[in-house]
Amino acid sequence: ATPKSDRIEMKRLNTTTTSMTTIKEALQRPSQKSNDAIVELIKPIVNDVRTNGDAGVLKYTHKFEKATSLTSPVIKAPFPENLMQLSADTIKAIDVSYENIRKFHAAQQDEKPLVVETMPGVVCSRFSRPIERVGLYIPGGTAVLPSSALMLGVPAMVAGCKKIVLASPPRSDGSISPEIVYAAHKCGAESIVLAGGAQAIAAMAYGTESVTKVDKILGPGNQFVTAAKMMVSNDTSAGVSIDMPAGPSEVLVIADKYANPAFVASDLLSQAEHGVDSQVILIAVDLDDKELAAIEEQLHQQANALPRVDIVRGSIDHSVTFVVKTLEEAMNLSNEYAPEHLILQIQDAESVVPLVQNAGSVFIGQWTPESVGDYSAGVNHSLPTYGYAKQYSGVNLGSFIKHITSSNLTAEGLRNVSSAVMQLAAVEGLDAHKRAVSIRMDAMSKDA
Ligand code: NAD
Repeated sequence: ATPKSDRIEMKRLNTTTTSMTTIKEALQRPSQKSNDAIVELIKPIVNDVRTNGDAGVLKYTHKFEKATSLTSPVIKAPFPENLMQLSADTIKAIDVSYENIRKFHAAQQDEKPLVVETMPGVVCSRFSRPIERVGLYIPGGTAVLPSSALMLGVPAMVAGCKKIVLASPPRSDGSISPEIVYAAHKCGAESIVLAGGAQAIAAMAYGTESVTKVDKILGPGNQFVTAAKMMVSNDTSAGVSIDMPAGPSEVLVIADKYANPAFVASDLLSQAEHGVDSQVILIAVDLDDKELAAIEEQLHQQANALPRVDIVRGSIDHSVTFVVKTLEEAMNLSNEYAPEHLILQIQDAESVVPLVQNAGSVFIGQWTPESVGDYSAGVNHSLPTYGYAKQYSGVNLGSFIKHITSSNLTAEGLRNVSSAVMQLAAVEGLDAHKRAVSIRMDAMSKDA
């Protein structure tokens, strides 16, 4: 038998015998390094790139990626065929995923402009335009992440963004993974910035000799990337916005006695393997000790068979199983936690969706592992973490679009709304505002 200390096991809390304070503590995200320290580290990098352009970017790529042979930080489209040599199976997988993501995001288009006559002769409209230039950060580090390139690139393309710039740290030989180049090609990207971290974010925010300046930066990354995104979006002279604050990945699984223990364990582990700072939460609805033990045994067995078992150990350390009596209680806990991913492995799972208040993306029923959403189903995998599902949506077509409103009044319309406008302008003491209406009213009465 495995010694107790080596067992890969989530701690268990029964909510009927646990205080509210302990429950709330268990729902805390693992703490992150102080943001101030990170900001101090990246400030000089951002300033260097802003001042020295390409030379600044290359300096840090040589330092962090050790890609000392690199002499230009950008490759421009059309990307050479020899940079996207892939197996037929990988091409097919990217093509299938691309098409599903495209279909789901294309369906999010506004059908036609919104037009409302609020009073006779007062017509208000809203129409949309794509953000012209977007910068999409694809994390590098150890993993190859073509799925992230698709999740950002496809909606940008569907939205009609004119310039799509991808950035990703190169490998130490200066190359970039062919999967990312192929995904960039499929999304119609104009260039790929071969840089990571704060230097990539600064290059896209301010532009350099060879990097196109963008209007919005999207995409996940480590704390250096996130801090740099926050910094440039706070600099009004950069004129750049960002998608959302990003934190480590997380999942919350709700399982009842109808759930397959092996499926539940596999879903928990598919998040736990992301990184030691990932968090997984299981809410077991009315399970007895034997049923809980079956899930725990599966978790231990499957975890030990994974190449990333050491990462799993780290994340399982700050993960927890809540044992609750009712589904309502489970949903309340879940809504309080506001998970990035919510998996419903319960009987008649679809009927519970109306109770979901806060979540990035929901996976319904036993045949829907979260992995399908990570890659190929069509939904987006760039989702709010750290409880931000309470106020943010995941990346969607709207992330690449601005809405513009317009008003169009007839003389009758102005007459109908004039007294409200003039009275409020008088209350605010803004005489020129009032006059812009009264001058027209005077002209109308002269014409009459
Ligand atoms: P990354 O691309 O985010 O960061 C690499 C860069 O970090 C380097 O280029 C370098 O510039 C910078 N850096 C490293 N050490 C530094 C230092 N000491 N000082 C200044 N800069 C430094 O790649 P990563 O580090 O592998 O992180 C990937 C992150 O992305 C993880 O946190 C992972 O959880 C996250 N991720 C999230 C999703 C998602 O969809 N939510 C998907 C994939 C990855």
